[in-house]
Amino acid sequence: MLSPSDVSASPSGAGRYAPSPSGDLHLGNLRTALYAWLFARSTGRAFRLRIEDLDRVREGSAQRQMDDLEALGIDWDGEPLIQSARTVAYEDAVARLRERGMVYECFCTRREIQEASSAPHGAPGAYPGTCRTLTADERTERARSRPAALRLRSETREWTVLDRYAGQYTGMVDDMVLVRNDGRAAYNLAVVVDDHFQGIDQVVRGDDLLSSAPRQSCLASLLGLGRVDYVHVPLALNREGKRLAKRDGAVTVAELRDNGVAPAEIVRMIASSMPLRSLRTDDAGALPESASQMLEVFDPETISLDPWTVLDPAAEVPRVSD
Ligand code: GLU
Repeated sequence: MLSPSDVSASPSGAGRYAPSPSGDLHLGNLRTALYAWLFARSTGRAFRLRIEDLDRVREGSAQRQMDDLEALGIDWDGEPLIQSARTVAYEDAVARLRERGMVYECFCTRREIQEASSAPHGAPGAYPGTCRTLTADERTERARSRPAALRLRSETREWTVLDRYAGQYTGMVDDMVLVRNDGRAAYNLAVVVDDHFQGIDQVVRGDDLLSSAPRQSCLASLLGLGRVDYVHVPLALNREGKRLAKRDGAVTVAELRDNGVAPAEIVRMIASSMPLRSLRTDDAGALPESASQMLEVFDPETISLDPWTVLDPAAEVPRVSD
């Protein structure tokens, strides 16, 4: 684990939360959002919001997510950045890579990639490079049946990032998709371009995304963009030990409210899971009830690095002390 000075405060930097508006936030998402806010605010950073709406979008969900964050006391600086309005910035980044011969068209289907990458000697999960060496004629031929995605012609196979809790983490870098074959920017490209645009120098998010960090950091470096401090935090799990999901029931702010659990109680539940210490030395049950109260007792050195198992959320609210 790194000492606090390794991941230092930067008065001009910013942290962020970047939800996908595919539905309501659940307890795991809310906990990650609180972590991101606490890490940013406790290091004097700005905090920014980004709506990652390049994939499946549920009508009205971005606004509901923002309302839920506000209900827990999370505030942010400036207007949220909306990825679907950022096409020109993504195109510009691809153009810069293209000028250096680092972009090629790929016509592979998911199945073709799966079959080719399970061949011996391929790095597991890596794009095997099938379309890397197509001739102009072959490309024209393949374009007749399928629109092309754009991939990075990567000269790097591995990249190491520094994460506050995982330490040095080395992961694979392959010829990642930059632009999907529906013309939209791919997740890795959009994250890197937007983190830079929003002045983000601290990325706090669920540890399911740690394996994406080397690709993103490598891409940022190719685009001449700065490095960020990574803090990947543990996820929330359900009683089966699987990642918490909305189908686990009573896990969103609205569902918990219907079960008589107010936002302040959700904050207490999450604070006790981290765990944060009590607000008062004479009362162990005096847990924070808002993001700003959490900040008073937040200590990145003492948070649990184990996943949070959520059994019965509505019944798990810590009792308020008398
Ligand atoms: N939009 C992604 C998600 O909701 C998060 C991306 C990120 O934090 O880099 O899982």
